[in-house]
Amino acid sequence: MSLNEVLQAVPLPALMISPDQRVTHQNDAALDFFGSNLVGRHVATAIRQPALLETVEAVLAGAPITSVRYLMSKLGRELTFDVHVAPVPSETSVILTFLDVSPHEEAGQMRSDFVANVSHELRTPLTALSGFIETLRGPARDDPEARARFLDIMDGEANRMNRLVSDLLSLSRVEDMERLRPTDVIELDQVIQTVITALSPAAKDRRVQVKTEFTSDGPTTVAGDRDQLAQVFTNLIENAIKYGRKGGSVLVTLRRLDMVSAFKGPGLQITVQDNGDGIDPKHLGRLTERFYRVDDHRSRALGGTGLGLAIVKHIINRHRGRLRIESTLGEGSSFFVTLPQTTTS
Ligand code: ADP
Repeated sequence: MSLNEVLQAVPLPALMISPDQRVTHQNDAALDFFGSNLVGRHVATAIRQPALLETVEAVLAGAPITSVRYLMSKLGRELTFDVHVAPVPSETSVILTFLDVSPHEEAGQMRSDFVANVSHELRTPLTALSGFIETLRGPARDDPEARARFLDIMDGEANRMNRLVSDLLSLSRVEDMERLRPTDVIELDQVIQTVITALSPAAKDRRVQVKTEFTSDGPTTVAGDRDQLAQVFTNLIENAIKYGRKGGSVLVTLRRLDMVSAFKGPGLQITVQDNGDGIDPKHLGRLTERFYRVDDHRSRALGGTGLGLAIVKHIINRHRGRLRIESTLGEGSSFFVTLPQTTTS
């Protein structure tokens, strides 16, 4: 068995370096990784990071196995590798293997960003509450009018925290269940109708008329989780009412698609359309990120948590569905949910 064959069996990019620091072997994974044939070249022309080059030198000089971080950017992405530098005493050489740890690093970064975001979101109403408590104890102690006003604001801030905590719980439950395929047979038109009825006080507050157009003449059944689907349409219709035009209208349509290529079969498409200010296209790709808001101030003023669309996206993923958003500034937005259709038979 040749050294080449052994290196080819290693699934990670691997290089073998001789005592004069030249590359003597390179497996196919390393060929993809470095993009060119390095055999015969000095290792410093392939790897320009001093920490790794120093380690190669040290291991060639007799140091034990060592791991070093190696950073590179590929196709506009910053990647992090753990490079394992191991001596091969019989050949007086070293073997380098490159393990991509970027997903792990990114997950760690996302976790800490998430904690920072949640802390910030909770701190804002908490700071307001502490401030009003101070005021009620001090300057506003004997002012019944101010007291009533401040208590109203405090009530609003406490409700905001409540909504945030319940959205966080929903998000974590939905994430936990994402791999569990829902199996109940759900009548979509009924779910949507129930949601619209429940949201009618919110619609009335903003004088918004919610209209429906259900054009599917056949069954509207999907394999689903009723509560979660109700949450999807609640979040979308509530957003359309909140961000749509005051005194305007929201149109909810349901139609059957005979063939959806992504499902290799029929689907049901629900559209929630408003005639509000719309969303600048540059934001569309990021709307379903947690805590992403187009207009921070407006979202908060309307009681938003910034988690609604993240929850929507996870639930739709769990149902193997698709979410598409279209919007034209000044005209309004449309949210398309497509779910694979199941027949009851
Ligand atoms: P929020 O709790 O802030 O409403 P969402 O996750 O539901 O959070 O929505 C994220 C952001 O997307 C909102 O802050 C808002 O800027 C924007 N958005 C959502 N739906 C609409 C809509 N129908 N029209 C305009 N902007 C919208």
